[in-house]
Parts: sequence; C-alpha cells; structure tokens
Amino acid sequence: MAQSRAEFDAVINVSGTQESESIEQEPYEDSNELKSSEINMTEVLKAGVLSDEIDLGALAHNAAEQAEEFVRKVWEASWKVCHYRNLPKWLQDNDFLHRGHRPPLPSFRACFKSIFRVHTETGNIWTHLLGCIAFIGVALYFVSRPTVEIQFQEKLVFGTFFMGAIICLGFSFAFHTLSCHSVEIGRLFSKLDYCGIALLIMGSFVPWLYYGFYCHYQPKVIYLSVVCVLGCLSIIVSLWDKFSEPALRPLRAGVFMSFGLSGVIPAIHYSIMEGWLSQISRASLGWLILMGLLYILGALLYALRVPERWFPGKFDIWFQSHQIFHVLVIAAAFVHYHGISEMAMYRVTVGECTVPIEPITF
Ligand SMILES: [Zn+2]
Repeated sequence: MAQSRAEFDAVINVSGTQESESIEQEPYEDSNELKSSEINMTEVLKAGVLSDEIDLGALAHNAAEQAEEFVRKVWEASWKVCHYRNLPKWLQDNDFLHRGHRPPLPSFRACFKSIFRVHTETGNIWTHLLGCIAFIGVALYFVSRPTVEIQFQEKLVFGTFFMGAIICLGFSFAFHTLSCHSVEIGRLFSKLDYCGIALLIMGSFVPWLYYGFYCHYQPKVIYLSVVCVLGCLSIIVSLWDKFSEPALRPLRAGVFMSFGLSGVIPAIHYSIMEGWLSQISRASLGWLILMGLLYILGALLYALRVPERWFPGKFDIWFQSHQIFHVLVIAAAFVHYHGISEMAMYRVTVGECTVPIEPITF
C-alpha cells in the first residue's frame, strides 16, 4: 500500500515537473512563484485525482490484489493430475500407482478444493472424512442420551473411544488432503496421522479393559497403564522424521500391529477369568477377534500394497490398498463399538460388583 502510494506520488511529481518546465520558458517568471506554482500544480493534481472518494493508491493496490487472486484462481482450477515420475521426490510414495497424482499445491485453499477432484487421494480423503462424520454423529447421539439411560461414567469411558476414532479419522482426512501442500506441511500431517492411529488403539483399549475387568481393579489398572506406555511409545516413534518414509512402510505397519496385538494378553486373561466357553466370553471375544482380523488384514494390505502391486497402474484412482485399509479401519472401529456396547449391556444386566464374578453359563 505504502509503496504503491509512493510510486503514485513519484508519477505525480514527474508530471508536476514537466508542467513547471513549460512554465520556466516564460522569461519573466519569478523563481519563487515558479516554485509555488509547481507545488500548487502538484497539490491540484493530487487533490483532483485523490479526492475523498477515490484513493488511487488503494485502487492500484486492489487491482494488484485482484490480478493476483485471478492468477491464483486460474492456477487452482487448472492444475492437472500427473504421472508418478513427474512428482517431486517428497511426493513419491507408492510407485505402483502410475497416473492421477496431484502435483504440489502450495495453498491450503487449493488442497481443500482438491477434495472435489478425482486423483489418487480422492478415495483416501472421502473414506475417512465420511467415517469421521459418522463417528461424530454416533458420539453426539451417545453423549446426549439422558443420564438415566447412560450414566456419566459410561459416557466418559465410551468417550475415550469416540475421541480416539474421531481424532484418528480426522487427522487422516487432513493428512490426505494436505499431503501435497509442501514438504513441511506434508511431514507435519503425516506425523499427526500416525499419532491418530496410536490414539485410536489407545481409545479402543480403554472401554474394553474397563468392562472386561470391571470387578478386577488391579489387572485393569496394570493393563491400562501398559496401554498408555505403549501408546506413548508409538506416538514418540510416529514423531520421528524418518518414520513416514516409503521404505519404512513395513515398520509402520509392524509398530501399530504389535500395539494392537498386545491386546491378546488381556484377552486371554479375560477368557480364563470368564471361562473360555461362556457365552459372554464368546460374544465379546468374537467381536474383538473380528476387529483384530479386520485391522490385521488392513495393515497387511497397507504394508504389501495389494492389489496395485499385482496390477501396477490399474488401481491408481479406486480400490488401491490404502483405500481398502481405510475402509477396514472404519469397519473395525464400528465392530469394536458394537463389541464394547454389548459388554456394557452385559455389565448393566449383571449389576455392580457385589457378587464375586463366576464364569457365566446359560
Ligand atoms: Zn491413510
């Protein structure tokens, strides 16, 4: 603004000088008078052009802004998807996806607009955006139930799971949307994406351990502490700069899979406690096992990059491993929600811990 105003003043002064040169040709002109007429001319020009209504400096500034906006809009609307080999190194992640990659889009607005374009990330963005919205809906419904129906403590316990799921899916959506912004933004959001996975696993453990060991305070506290320690370790590993490199894909799958599979130990403990063949044990373990299988399948597809590994260039836009992994994560989270709801229902039916827990037989 200041600069364009100064430039404008300079232009005015030049024209003022030219005027004074023509006046100077008059032989009897007094130099002081000339000086004052020059000033007057400049003032007149300034006053005439720069009236209260029109501020040319501002106008010039606005015009520059509009031109910039126009160029940005044209560029944002006109970018084309590109081939893997044309991507910069920092965007080259999966060489089995050949065409349809987003180029670097160093603007948040362009990145968010790319949600509505078709490219290799479209499926990844929408799966977790819709999953996130669905979980927000379920969480709001659950938390808004009257206390007589669902107690505050149950809301809190389920709330940790909902928070984990919403944060995980939300961060994942943000990462896939913004990964092409720049090296720094891409790296930051990939770290948040991995932290989200750790939070989802932690959040999934809490209600399961809470209801599974409802009347067994000591193992509950021990398992919850172990989950917190493992969760924090996963987050620390996720914050490591090299963790998001394509070569470390199997390590990433391994870290989260082992964290998730550490749940096998309390699950065995729970089964022994409840009796392997009791219906409640089978019901809650059944959902837990299904959830585990969905996560393991997802992690394996993610690590091995199947099916695009077998048909390179054939799953560039739809049905690539990462999208299937995303859908399996959502499915696993809903299965878990169903499982812990059943465990909570069982707790409500059985009542408080006044009677010693015996294996239940029906
Ligand atoms: Zn993802």
